[in-house]
Amino acid sequence: MNATQTRHTELIRPRPSRPLISVVVPCYNEEEAVGVFSAAISETLSVADFGYEIVFIDDGSSDKTREALIALAQHEQKVRVIALSRNFGKEAALTAGLDHARGDAVVVMDADLQDPPALIMAFVEKWREGFDVVYGARADRARDTFAKRLSAEGFYRFFNRISKIKLPDDAGDFRLMDRRVVKAIKSLPERSRFMKGLFAWAGYSTIGVPYARPERAAGETKFSFWRLWNFALDGIVSFSTAPLRIWSYVGVVIALLSFAYASFIILRTLLTGVDVPGYASIVVLILFFGSVQLISVGVLGEYIARLFTEVKRRPIYLVDEVYDNEGESSQSHQERYSVKSAS
Ligand code: UDP
Ligand code: MG
Repeated sequence: MNATQTRHTELIRPRPSRPLISVVVPCYNEEEAVGVFSAAISETLSVADFGYEIVFIDDGSSDKTREALIALAQHEQKVRVIALSRNFGKEAALTAGLDHARGDAVVVMDADLQDPPALIMAFVEKWREGFDVVYGARADRARDTFAKRLSAEGFYRFFNRISKIKLPDDAGDFRLMDRRVVKAIKSLPERSRFMKGLFAWAGYSTIGVPYARPERAAGETKFSFWRLWNFALDGIVSFSTAPLRIWSYVGVVIALLSFAYASFIILRTLLTGVDVPGYASIVVLILFFGSVQLISVGVLGEYIARLFTEVKRRPIYLVDEVYDNEGESSQSHQERYSVKSAS
């Protein structure tokens, strides 16, 4: 466990004796899961020696998730529901959750019980010991498919090689963060929010608590291959400029090679005279350089596309409605259409 521990300050910051812990849960088409989830979480936390609130984010579900969540909020004081105006994606939903959480520490977890509620107790214990970030470290990926394991491993290796920010390869989003870490993450203005990267960017004393990740309790995964691919691209482009810069080096290497080849041809022509054949090598070279140029233009495009999104400064999410324990809450019109500001 020590391997995952980064820095633990000697000076332990005092924690409130009866802190409020916010549990932030993004939900997208989880109608089958929310009932089981909320039963499990209340059972675990009912015996806790800290106060808690559960902030569900309905990320524009097209099934009965919102209704199910509101029903929960109506008979459970501690539940709040933030319903977004459409599906903004898990990263935006998490951002909305962090913005609305009021706790001294915030736990983010999935609605499908793949993040065991019992672990929250261990998280809070570590937080009380003085750690600012406590994350669930996946002890093994045995339950993932071979393809997913392989691609995840490749992604983390590549990401950590080209980015200054290092992602622990056993960490998901499941974690507890102290209020000041949440504050740091909320202060980040970017629109494309690769949360794993933002969490790692914030730093602070961090520790992992190992656990075996169970199967989904109900429903199915929302991350198709294509969505994961785009997610990985987002992560890399948001946290590294290496793909942009590598082309200058590729260019220099190719220029050197062509220079050497040109010298060779000149020498050979001087020594043995002109020779015409060479159709195959010319075609191969044209194809090769054509594709190198296309790839580099494509990489430029990835960054420009993101610059474009950032520059537009559109809000990260839109809140449709907020439900507190009073059912449909006392939100103002303004709040209802409130947008996330840059701060
Ligand atoms: N999720 C979300 N918005 C989305 C996709 C997913 O809020 O657009 C939520 C989903 O409801 C779940 C969590 O993100 O609570 C993780 O999703 P999932 O279990 O499908 O991912 P996996 O565990 O397969 O990586
Ligand atoms: Mg899941």
